[in-house]
Amino acid sequence: MHKVSFFKSIHVKIVLIYVLLIIIALQIIGIYFSSKLEESLKLNFKDSITQRIDLVQYSIREELLKDRGDETSPSLEQSLGVILLEFPNEDISEILIINDRNKVLASLENQSIVGSRFDNDTVTKAISAEDYSESIRLESGNRVWVLAAPIMDNVGPNSEVIGAIYIKADIESVFEQMKDINQIFAIGTAMSLAITIVLGILFAKTITKPILDMRRQAQAMSRGNYSRKVRVYGDDEIGQLALAFNHLTNRLQEAQSTTEAERRKLASVLSNMTDGVIATDRKGKVILINDPALTFLDVTRETTLSRPIASVLGLDQEYSFEDLIHMKESINLDYSTQDKPFILRANFSVIQKETGFVNGLITVIHDITEQEKIEMERREFVANVSHELRTPLTTMRSYLEALADGAWRDENIAPTFLNVTQTETERMIRLVNDLLNLSKMDSRDYKLNKEFVEFNKFFNRIIDRFEMSKSQNVKFTRYIPDTSYFVEVDTDKLTQVIDNIISNALKYSPDGGNIRFGFTVQENMLKVMVSDDGMGIPKENVTKIFDRFYRVDRARSRAMGGTGLGLAIAKEMIEAHGGKIWAESEEGVGTTIFFTMPFELDEAGDWE
Ligand code: ADP
Repeated sequence: MHKVSFFKSIHVKIVLIYVLLIIIALQIIGIYFSSKLEESLKLNFKDSITQRIDLVQYSIREELLKDRGDETSPSLEQSLGVILLEFPNEDISEILIINDRNKVLASLENQSIVGSRFDNDTVTKAISAEDYSESIRLESGNRVWVLAAPIMDNVGPNSEVIGAIYIKADIESVFEQMKDINQIFAIGTAMSLAITIVLGILFAKTITKPILDMRRQAQAMSRGNYSRKVRVYGDDEIGQLALAFNHLTNRLQEAQSTTEAERRKLASVLSNMTDGVIATDRKGKVILINDPALTFLDVTRETTLSRPIASVLGLDQEYSFEDLIHMKESINLDYSTQDKPFILRANFSVIQKETGFVNGLITVIHDITEQEKIEMERREFVANVSHELRTPLTTMRSYLEALADGAWRDENIAPTFLNVTQTETERMIRLVNDLLNLSKMDSRDYKLNKEFVEFNKFFNRIIDRFEMSKSQNVKFTRYIPDTSYFVEVDTDKLTQVIDNIISNALKYSPDGGNIRFGFTVQENMLKVMVSDDGMGIPKENVTKIFDRFYRVDRARSRAMGGTGLGLAIAKEMIEAHGGKIWAESEEGVGTTIFFTMPFELDEAGDWE
């Protein structure tokens, strides 16, 4: 904020206004006072002279009207001269007594003009008007007051003018006095102005100081500093303004921190959510993009901000921003590469005002690769199941058709055909059972009925069962330790797992082959192995044999009555027990299936 110039500042303005008001007030008082004083001084001056004239007027009339027949009596001029000499002549510079023919009869100052004619406007006016006549005139730089008073022959109404008194008084003293008074007044004005200016500055400060404080506070607030408080100097309007200002600061600080907290919350929500979020302005330019969106789209924030959303999503060929605004359904964005599937789903929602004005667009991006994979697997699974069921059913239909067409009468063929349908039916039952098993394991409420068993015995018993019932010429070798190992397992499920593995080993073992059974302890787990000298599995398929319906040789597996689900079920069950299952194999040399599971050395161990 720029600094307020000196003459624009309130401080100077207040002082100036204050001083101007005082000057105007003093001027009005001064002019009124001095004019009234001058008037009154003049009046006093004139009154004192007029009163003296009134007193002497009578004696002069008497002398003028006196009969001068007596030779001994003094002349009129002498008598009048005596009267003038006795006249109190303070402030008076000249007194003349003039008869009605304008002849000077007596003079106070200049005896040489006695007897001469005296023509004077004021005297002429007084004689003709039979009244006092006066004027102020300038004589050698000084103001003099000239007064002419008529002398009447009597006091009655029919009186006549018989002469006049002419007086010249020095009125300059009155003006001198006024000048002194005005000077005193001017000095007083100057002094009061000086005091007023000092007081004005102090007074203006009491107003401007809190305002300056508030200005500084507002500047600090604009820089984000809310810790300052304005000092409250009093309980007047400015004090209340300061209080309101402090209150405003607090509210602003609260609002600011709430906004800041909300912003942080939003930022943390946006960056911690798994979905990508992109927001645009009303022109479709990206204004916000969260971290997951950056990762999904493999871009940086700098290169994305301010770019059109359609181009960021790689949709600029097919869609404009307008299209995206009206997009009701989601769009799948396939960013899959040859080695890695990667599919995103983008949903759009428009930020709109009540008036319908579009303010921006929010795009939420969601990784649906896994979902799509599951969906694909589901479709594949359904296709596999249908295929697996259709094959035996087609076989059975053709055999049953042949039987119905008359083959049932042929004693040599009929039993074989019936046998085939029976085998196929059994295989279908096995398949359906396997599927049911899998579906049970997939369901959430799948539970294991666990019990403690000594694994050595448990394993031996299963191998015994196979050894006794085997029809092939296969040798069984056992590598089972003497120490007892206890496992907490669902025995039915584990039996099924081991059955599946051993029957596979038997299925793929050549005549005269060898199957080895054993287990060891590795990394706190029992590691069980079933190894054969069979045909083996190609390297690239070793991991796939645990997938549902996967067989290396589909025709051969089916011919052997396999469903392609045995190892998939085994994998689910072993993982449910907290173990792992895998295969190691070499084509033409043999296959070893391994699985692990947690164990106890002592059955009682857990109960102590
Ligand atoms: P199947 O019912 O076909 O045996 P499995 O899930 O049990 O289904 O096995 C899947 C596939 O794994 C088999 O079709 C076979 O190709 C291969 N396989 C399993 N065990 C062996 C083994 N011991 N030797 C060779 N191949 C095997």
